Amino acid sequence: MPRPRLTALVVVCVLGALAWELPQVRRRVMYDAAHWDALPGEPAVIPGGTGAGLAPAARTRVVVIDGLSAEVAATLPVLQALCKRGVAARIDVGFPSVSLPVEAVLWSGLTQQQTGIVNRDGRPLVPPLAGIPSQVPDSRAVAESHGWIVRSLGFATAEPAADPTDPARDADPEGWKAVWQRRAAAAVTSGARLVFVHVLEVDAAGHGHGGDSAEYRAAARDADALLGALLAGDPTARWFALSDHGHLAGGHGGHGGEEREIRQVQGCFAGPGILPGRGQLLHLADVSRAIADSTGTELPRASIGRPLAVALAAPLTGDDALPAIALGAGAIAMSLLAIGVALTLLAARPWWLAPWWFVLGGVALVMLRGEPTLSKWWVYQPRDMIVIWLPLLPLGFAATLAGVRRTTLVRVVVAQLAAPLAAAAAALTAAGAWSAVLGAEVAPVVPRFTAYSSPLLVMAAHGALAVALGALATLVRPVFGRRARRAPAPAAPPAG
Ligand SMILES: [Zn+2]
Repeated sequence: MPRPRLTALVVVCVLGALAWELPQVRRRVMYDAAHWDALPGEPAVIPGGTGAGLAPAARTRVVVIDGLSAEVAATLPVLQALCKRGVAARIDVGFPSVSLPVEAVLWSGLTQQQTGIVNRDGRPLVPPLAGIPSQVPDSRAVAESHGWIVRSLGFATAEPAADPTDPARDADPEGWKAVWQRRAAAAVTSGARLVFVHVLEVDAAGHGHGGDSAEYRAAARDADALLGALLAGDPTARWFALSDHGHLAGGHGGHGGEEREIRQVQGCFAGPGILPGRGQLLHLADVSRAIADSTGTELPRASIGRPLAVALAAPLTGDDALPAIALGAGAIAMSLLAIGVALTLLAARPWWLAPWWFVLGGVALVMLRGEPTLSKWWVYQPRDMIVIWLPLLPLGFAATLAGVRRTTLVRVVVAQLAAPLAAAAAALTAAGAWSAVLGAEVAPVVPRFTAYSSPLLVMAAHGALAVALGALATLVRPVFGRRARRAPAPAAPPAG
C-alpha cells in the first residue's frame, strides 16, 4: 500500500475511535459529577474576624424555600416582613448550587469542597450528616417532598418516611402531599429545640416552567403563605428563612452552576436576640454558625462560618464564595490549550485549514445558549447543543478534502483538530476529571470547567468525525490520494 493511503487509513481509524470514545467520556464525566462525591478539599477564603456569636435561643425554626431566587423573594410579603423585623441579607450558598450539597453546608458549617458532597443526585447520605441536627436530641425536619434530603441531614426525626424498599424514595408521596403542611405546623409548634421545614414547590415550578414563569411566581406566593402560617405557629421562636439556590429563566429552569443569580439568595433571620439590620452578602456557612449558636451546638474547627455580627460587618464581595481552581491543574490546562492553539496556528496554512467549524460553532453556542454551566439543561442533554454546530461540520469535511490537495493529511489533521482536542483536554484537566475518565468514582465538579468539558468533548468528537470522513473520501477516491502525493512535504508548504 502506498504511504499516503496507509497514512489515510491510520488517520481514519484513530479519528474514528476518537469520535466514538469522546462522547462516552463526556457521559462518564457528567454522570460522575452528578453521582459521586468529590475528594474533600479546601474551602473558599472569605473575610475573617472574631466576635461573639448569637446567644442560644429556646427554640430555633429554619425554613428553606428550595429554588427561590432573590429576585422573586423580594416580592413576597411574609418573607419581607420577617426581614424587616430582623436581619435581611443576601446569602452566597457557594458552588455547586444543588439542594443536598447546599443543605449539607447549612447543617454542617462546611462548604461543598470541604465535605466533598457536590451532588449525589438521589443518593441519601448513609450514615446521615454529623452536623448541627445530630447534636440536638429532639431536632425535627419535615419536607414537602424529596424526603431523602432531610433524611440525610442527621435530624432525630425526619419526615416523610422512606420507602422501605428504596431509601431515595418517599413511602407514600401522594398521601404525604395531603398532610405534610399539617405535619410541618405540628413540628413548628411542638416545642422541639430545632425544627427544619423544607419547602419544594418553588423548585418544582422552576424545573417545570422556568424561574421567570407565572407558575414559579405563584408557587413562591404559595410558599410565602405557608411561611406565614408556620410563623404564626410559634411567633416567639428565633426564625431563619432562606433559600438554597435560585432558578434560571425559561424552559426547564435549572440550577447547579456558579451563576451569581443562582448562588446568591435572600435570607431573613428574626426573633429574640436578633437586632434588626441589613447585611450585604453572607456565606451560607455564616448562617450555619448562627444556627449553631442558636441551638448551642458546635461546628467543626474547619468551618469558615463567622459569628453573625462579624459576618454582617465583613461582607463577602462578588465571587468570594467560589472555590479556586487547583493551581497545578490550572497551569497544566493553560499549557495544554496553548500547545493546541500553537499547533493549529502553525499547521493552518492556508488560513482556511484552521478549524472554523470549531470557532464558529463555539461562538454560535455561546450566543444562542449562553455560557455552559452546570445549571443549564443542554449541558446534560447533548442533542440541544449538537444542533447548534451540526450545520458547520461540513466545513471540517470540506477543509480536509481541499487540504490534502495542498499539503499532507497529517498536517490537515493537526490544523483541524489540535486546538479542539487541546481545549477539551484542558477543560478536563482544570475540572480534575482525568481520574473520573479513567474510572475512579470521584465527582469532578469545579466552577466553569466541568460544564465546559461537556460541549468541548462532543465538538472535538464531531470534528474528528468530519475529518475522518474527509480522509476516508481520499481513500475511496484515488484522485485525492494522487494529488496528496504530489503535494510538497510539511517542511515546505505552499504559500497561500
Ligand atoms: Zn432543583
